[in-house]
Amino acid sequence: MSDREIMEYDVVIIGAGPAGLACAIRLKQLKEELNVCVIEKASEIGGHILSGAVIEPEPLDTLLDGWRDDPPPICVPAGRDEFLLLSKTGRRKLPTPPQQKNHGNFIVSLGAMCAWMAPKAEALGVDLFPGFAAADLSLAEDGSVQGVVIGDMGVDRQGEPKDTYVQGIEIRAPLTVLGEGCRGHLTKRLIAKFKLDADSDPQTYGIGMKELWQLPEGRTEKGLIQHTVGWPLPNSIYGGSFIYHLDRDRVALGFVCGLDYQDPEFSPFEAFQQLKHHPEIKKLLADGEILSAGARALVEGGYQSLPRVEAPGAMLIGDSAGLLNVPKIKGTHQAMKSGMLAAEHIAEKGSAEGFDARLRASPITAELKKVRNIRPGFQKGLWRGMFTAAVETVTLGKLPRTLPNHADHEQYRKLNGHNFSYDWVERDLPPRDRLASVYFASTDHDEDQPIHLKIIEPDVCFDRCEEEYGNPCTKFCPASVYEKVEDENGKRIQVNAANCVHCKTCDIADPYQVIEWVTPEGGAGPNYRNL
Ligand code: SF4
Repeated sequence: MSDREIMEYDVVIIGAGPAGLACAIRLKQLKEELNVCVIEKASEIGGHILSGAVIEPEPLDTLLDGWRDDPPPICVPAGRDEFLLLSKTGRRKLPTPPQQKNHGNFIVSLGAMCAWMAPKAEALGVDLFPGFAAADLSLAEDGSVQGVVIGDMGVDRQGEPKDTYVQGIEIRAPLTVLGEGCRGHLTKRLIAKFKLDADSDPQTYGIGMKELWQLPEGRTEKGLIQHTVGWPLPNSIYGGSFIYHLDRDRVALGFVCGLDYQDPEFSPFEAFQQLKHHPEIKKLLADGEILSAGARALVEGGYQSLPRVEAPGAMLIGDSAGLLNVPKIKGTHQAMKSGMLAAEHIAEKGSAEGFDARLRASPITAELKKVRNIRPGFQKGLWRGMFTAAVETVTLGKLPRTLPNHADHEQYRKLNGHNFSYDWVERDLPPRDRLASVYFASTDHDEDQPIHLKIIEPDVCFDRCEEEYGNPCTKFCPASVYEKVEDENGKRIQVNAANCVHCKTCDIADPYQVIEWVTPEGGAGPNYRNL
């Protein structure tokens, strides 16, 4: 028997992102008497949220009547759309794909939007617990989920209690809703325990990096939404950039690439920094300064990778379920709609049972189905991908064929025999390197706590990985957490866990799947501002 203190709720929601907050608000709107809490590992709501983000407003219209009169702090009506093909020195305007037309949408900071939604949830009676990390699922004797266990605080690096030790409580509820975002560690455990992915393709992912820039006066065109494909990526790597022009001479600049790239020595961070040296983008950024920056994995598998979204006592919503619409480059509307749908299901049925069928029969899944072949179409390169996208769009997704998704980490080519090369330039814009970039994420971890990045089989790193793949963890991590060191004890991977920005890329992209991301103490991690 556990001697942990137990708190009881009717519904516990993990993650105060758009899905979790929409679920909490909708639950209280529908059934005021329900006791609902939201657990969030960031020290402040929105502190771990990073997204483009251009959002469709429909879910906000449904959920928060009158929100347009009291909008989130960053909320710029979409203006012109531009879709650009970049070469190393030039750019060509292409017709904007229909999915990327943004008339009627809004550019927001998703972090700031969540911070703006949080008091609205509290006003309805939702208990919000920022700074509390749900470390594990709590399972009942019959194996069903009965809540979560909050991580202990004040444990040293060796796992021993310090003077500041406080045992984490257990939060029990008949229903646990996981809205952890992409690659949540509890979601991963739930999917594995209940084999929720037995009938779906492997989930696939990308990594997104974003910087918020303050530019000299008059440089921006408020509301302009620019997307690029092409340089600095070769045609074989899926990805592109976004430049969203905000108010007050700020732009949100971001870069996304699929984690199914084949070159184990490729560095997404370096590609992002290269992008900033394209003549047009460099001109835009000249004499500007970075206000904040960060990185986050995003879920790209869509319809064919959608796992079963219910288990006894638990439900998956938002990016925990994998509802991002890749061709639209948007997931917020899907996240909010799925949170609201989960709330409606709970209010009506009082259990998770039937939620999977309900989500699959909803417009949320229909939206994914319509574009299901577009992302896998890019596995054969940019031009094949564009062609598949055009066919899928014209046929409204009605082709009988569904292209399969394959696990990203299986796509690496071994080092010998493959020479990948990139047409890149000498860099001079900040940040110099990944460590300098971590500064803009304001990430903060007490170093005297157990390392939250577990290399489950460390021997693999030098017995196999170094020779076969050159230790890609030292390249794909955007925060330079993994470092090869050699001293009198031999070679090892040093894990600089304090730098981690919780993007989850290592948990996804390690070729041997021996890296496991678990949550550090609540409140630790990045402290994103307006990302
Ligand atoms: Fe992302 Fe993993 Fe690096 Fe942390 S250690 S920043 S989760 S890749």
